[in-house]
Amino acid sequence: METHIRDITVEDIRKWLKEVVDPEIPVISIEDLGVLRDIRKEGETFIITITPTYSGCPAMDMITLNIHKKMRECGVPHFKVETQIAPPWTTDWMSEEGKRKLKEFGIAPPMGNRGSEDLINRHPPCPFCNSTNTVLVSAFGSTACKALFKCKDCAEPFDYFKCH
Ligand SMILES: [Zn+2]
Repeated sequence: METHIRDITVEDIRKWLKEVVDPEIPVISIEDLGVLRDIRKEGETFIITITPTYSGCPAMDMITLNIHKKMRECGVPHFKVETQIAPPWTTDWMSEEGKRKLKEFGIAPPMGNRGSEDLINRHPPCPFCNSTNTVLVSAFGSTACKALFKCKDCAEPFDYFKCH
């Protein structure tokens, strides 16, 4: 059956966008990440609003591209992706589901709220063995938004997603 524009709802768009993930953490959807801020319909056009995580994050171009791809795949004829930079993205917007998936992926999820980061005194549970006997190795991990920790129990190094 052919889908007509009048049949597509904001909820459909939301459902389809669940398949658009963060290119760096491909288990987390842009909704779980808190990057997807709003979907609305103006006339026949769906306006999809996203807020970039870290400014200049190269993943954002990829996310915009993937949204376009997904919308075309689903046969959405009129849509626009708008970037909203204020208020700035914060890890507070990450969903509990997103944090759980992050941990499964091997990255310790952010523990505090915006502005509360205290890496030296932070002991994020090791994503591999759950031990809190963990120690900061470097304030910067595989990307600037993560810090590198090491688990003293299982000896595994891991990334911790910093509060932002
Ligand atoms: Zn461990």
